[in-house]
Amino acid sequence: MTPDWVPVRDELRGEEPYGAPQIDVPVQLNTNENPFGPSEATARDIADEVFRAATSLNRYPDREAAVLRAALADYLGHGLTVDQVWAANGSNEVMQQILQAFGGPGRTALSFAPTYSMYPEYARNTHTHWVEGLRRDDFSIDVDAAVDLIGREKPDVVFLASPNNPTGTAIDPAELRAIVEAAPGVVVVDEAYAEFRRAGTPTSLELLSEFPRLLVTRTMSKAFAFAGGRLGYVAADPAIVDVLRVVRLPYHLSSVSQAAALAALRHAEEMLAQVDALRTSRDEVAAWLAGEGFDVAESDANFILFGTFPDRHATWRALLDRGVLIREVGPVGWLRVSIGTPDEMEAFKQALKEVTA
Ligand code: PMP
Repeated sequence: MTPDWVPVRDELRGEEPYGAPQIDVPVQLNTNENPFGPSEATARDIADEVFRAATSLNRYPDREAAVLRAALADYLGHGLTVDQVWAANGSNEVMQQILQAFGGPGRTALSFAPTYSMYPEYARNTHTHWVEGLRRDDFSIDVDAAVDLIGREKPDVVFLASPNNPTGTAIDPAELRAIVEAAPGVVVVDEAYAEFRRAGTPTSLELLSEFPRLLVTRTMSKAFAFAGGRLGYVAADPAIVDVLRVVRLPYHLSSVSQAAALAALRHAEEMLAQVDALRTSRDEVAAWLAGEGFDVAESDANFILFGTFPDRHATWRALLDRGVLIREVGPVGWLRVSIGTPDEMEAFKQALKEVTA
């Protein structure tokens, strides 16, 4: 608890730092990482690139991270170029920069709950007024209600996570179109989990050329198996990117981060090699959970929200006692499990069976 003498802003007094518990247990299925790390050869290539960067650590990094942004544009495809891509230390930092540029005092940001719980925190930290609409019971967005709310609140920024965290729900492109058309400000589609989407679920990158106020954020933390590297990015109109360049701290992205990410991108095929297997495992675990009688949210991501438990904390704790760490997050009674290795998913199933027997 913050002592009274600390002259902190009122809205920060008593607040806890955000973060999932970091507990060293055998089966860690709580932060939606890719459970498969890089091969020895790829790790060496990353280390070599970092070594090269280390020989000039007396100099500041490229402020514009131009080489890395060009590589990210190539990775995204859709004809995107370096001036349409911006990068920072995780998509968390990208979204904070978005609110620094487009939110702020007298301005409003809006999303639809349950959704990623950092959005209201970025809003709080940037003095942006926060408004939350509600998703339907199946976690989809009621577009008519959304358009209504947007009409009333006139938000400067709308956040839509697709696939959504913690529910896994992807937004339908026709619905996104209706929301972007109704929104007076920028619309940020947070595609942190896009690479895990099911066949037939499109990416919002396809709409970028049509809607200059659309921003699509991505991250190397999830499918790309690079959470420790802290690299997130956004694709948007060059005029939007230019505004993000105004609010970023000088040299925000270290030479070491840029070098490591660049080397990892050269190995994109390997870094993403397990994504198909993880998607298959997700569908298999979702079917298993449903077969066990749980409610299961449809997921386009590498995690599954399932429930409901009369005392979800007790269930979470009992799983942890068996060495399986999942996440206590989302609507009351639900729990979220990330997709790990086949052995980890077996351990999860076994532990859940024991706990709910
Ligand atoms: N968006 C969503 C929906 C997420 O779940 C996360 C991470 N949990 C992030 C953004 C941030 O990821 P990062 O900062 O690692 O890119």
